[in-house]
Amino acid sequence: MLKVNEIFHSIQGESSRAGEPCVFIRLTGCNLRCSYCDTEYAFYEGSDKSIDEILNEVKIYNCNLVEVTGGEPLLQDECFELLNRLCTLGFEVMLETGGSLPVDKVDDRVKIILDMKCPSSGMVKKNLYANLKWLKPADEVKFVIGSREDYEWSRAIVEEYGLAGKQTVLFSPVFGAVEPVRLAEWILEDRLKVRFQLQMHKYIWDPNKRGV
Ligand code: SF4
Repeated sequence: MLKVNEIFHSIQGESSRAGEPCVFIRLTGCNLRCSYCDTEYAFYEGSDKSIDEILNEVKIYNCNLVEVTGGEPLLQDECFELLNRLCTLGFEVMLETGGSLPVDKVDDRVKIILDMKCPSSGMVKKNLYANLKWLKPADEVKFVIGSREDYEWSRAIVEEYGLAGKQTVLFSPVFGAVEPVRLAEWILEDRLKVRFQLQMHKYIWDPNKRGV
């Protein structure tokens, strides 16, 4: 059984698939406490569901893109089997993970969106840097940037690990903390080969709305 916070159909707000309809499976629990977290309700709330029950619910939406997210989905061991079963059923599967737990056992068919926690998150010490060497070219590395210090830290990590040539690198402003235009200007001034993104769902719906 997996503890599931919510399953919902929405517009993918982030990543290279932003803008596409997607079914989200949000698993309960997180080992991190980021300063900007907008899904604290997923820390403890949820109900136990078997993988078969989850798959049946996902199928209702007739949508081929599915993201497993959290919280931190990899905290629950059965998440690996859920990812595997989704892929085998032919879904395009994405996994959003906070980057503190190993991703080396994730099914190769899954697109991993790996968050690297910047200093202003308060969680920078939790980053598991070994994850960066386990990523595939199709995976994506996301930096959620809340200050100029975060930006410079992210730029240094991208350079040190040569990420820009290997994976899609996403730079995203913390909603309400960094003006999108500032981050866009910093990227352009430094000629960075990264992908600027906004959390699209926060512009479509009320930023505090759940289940979107
Ligand atoms: S990893 Fe995600 S869910 Fe966990 S505290 Fe950070 S932002 Fe919130």
